[in-house]
Amino acid sequence: MAVVTTHRTQVAIVGAGPAGLLLGHLLHLNGIDSVIVENRARDYVIDRVRAGVLEQGTVDLLNAIGVDAGLRRRGLRHEGFYVSVLGSRHRIDLSSLTGGKAITVYGQNEVVRDLIDARIETARPLYFNAEQVAVTAVDSPSPVVRFRHDGAEHAVHCDFVAGCDGFHGVCRPAIPDAALTIYERVYPFAWLGILAEAEPSSDELVYTYHERGFALFSMRSPTVTRLYLQVPPDEPIERWPDEAIWAEMLERMRARDGWQPNVGRIIQKSVTPMRSFVATPMRHGNLFLAGDAAHIVPPTGAKGLNLAAADVLVLARAMKAYYERGDTGKLSEYSDVCLRRVWKAQRFSWWMTSTLHRFPGENAFDYQRQVADLDYLTSSRAAMTSLAEQYVGLPFEVSFESAGLPAVEQEAATH
Ligand SMILES: Cc1cc2nc3c(=O)[nH]c(=O)nc-3n(C[C@H](O)[C@H](O)[C@H](O)COP(=O)(O)OP(=O)(O)OC[C@H]3O[C@@H](n4cnc5c(N)ncnc54)[C@H](O)[C@@H]3O)c2cc1C
Repeated sequence: MAVVTTHRTQVAIVGAGPAGLLLGHLLHLNGIDSVIVENRARDYVIDRVRAGVLEQGTVDLLNAIGVDAGLRRRGLRHEGFYVSVLGSRHRIDLSSLTGGKAITVYGQNEVVRDLIDARIETARPLYFNAEQVAVTAVDSPSPVVRFRHDGAEHAVHCDFVAGCDGFHGVCRPAIPDAALTIYERVYPFAWLGILAEAEPSSDELVYTYHERGFALFSMRSPTVTRLYLQVPPDEPIERWPDEAIWAEMLERMRARDGWQPNVGRIIQKSVTPMRSFVATPMRHGNLFLAGDAAHIVPPTGAKGLNLAAADVLVLARAMKAYYERGDTGKLSEYSDVCLRRVWKAQRFSWWMTSTLHRFPGENAFDYQRQVADLDYLTSSRAAMTSLAEQYVGLPFEVSFESAGLPAVEQEAATH
């Protein structure tokens, strides 16, 4: 019979993405033990190219937990972005519309690398390459997370499981179907994303509405440009040789004022489907879902990573209240508090997506309505303010102090 190494911890965290790692660090700062179990290799987790836009609150949070050295050095603070409508570029001045807030462009891989380094410094357990991860007994007072690592069997006995294992993880499926309500919308297009060795030709993002479809100009560093194109769903990447990608990018993004992205060697390309998804409630027994495990937004609003950060702040507050005072009230509130933000981010991401993409089958009326929507957006201060307020991020639902962090200047929490 195989020997099983048994661990005992307070919180077993499944997944070392932004949600799991950030939660681990928040718990650490509150003196709460955790074991993080990740099924991929460390380099794979770091190298995965994904989000890049951090809300003001996410930056404040990384700052408050002290994992901000890289962010301060290499993060690119943006006080505005452009919306380009049929070749005409309009600037949305985020900072002046929101009383000085901004977004920061800092790759998710950098955030994850910084959080992994911080975790390792705490010397708390973090297992990469865990195989056959299984979550059991979540209805009981002592759930167990089992996995294989380096050929040995492990069983982590804990008080709580944090399901931070993304959309395709094992935690959400561990909840009986009857206990979950799923809300979902799949969009009839995908994003073809590239990283190119090209100096960004704009200091700020450019969201483009074009008759041929949506395109987005972004960047990862002073030498790397990140670009996206709306393409049909399930588009095979092989259908897009580099020259075809550049031709289509330039066709859609070239503005009447002469602006266009710089062209360079493509170093990464992929196609991402677009989906809105929410599973409720975000708690079942002693299993708490956080981040993409519970919800997915289309990337247009740049909310996914930021929502993951907001969830784990609420979860850290709840666990702190439980371990310090035996208070189970905050654990009970967890799902409802998170979902208020989740649904607002869903609405915003759906709106950004529907406004900026061409939908197959739409008619001339739909096209004129979309153009009018964008004309209103780029000419009304009220409309721009609403966009800016949501883009830089609504205030967190809970205060940093309630999650055991030092008080920093933070907009009033709503809960
Ligand atoms: C192309 C693209 C662009 C995006 N752009 C943005 C953006 O600009 N701004 C933004 O805010 N968001 C963006 N997002 C979304 C953002 O990347 C996600 O919302 C974010 O990664 C969520 O973090 P998470 O920790 O919840 O999940 P994940 O990052 O998915 O992390 C989950 C972790 O769990 C691990 N795991 C999975 N299954 C198991 C298992 N069985 N056992 C153990 N571990 C497991 C995974 O390997 C992974 O490391 C983008 C996403 C994509 C794909």
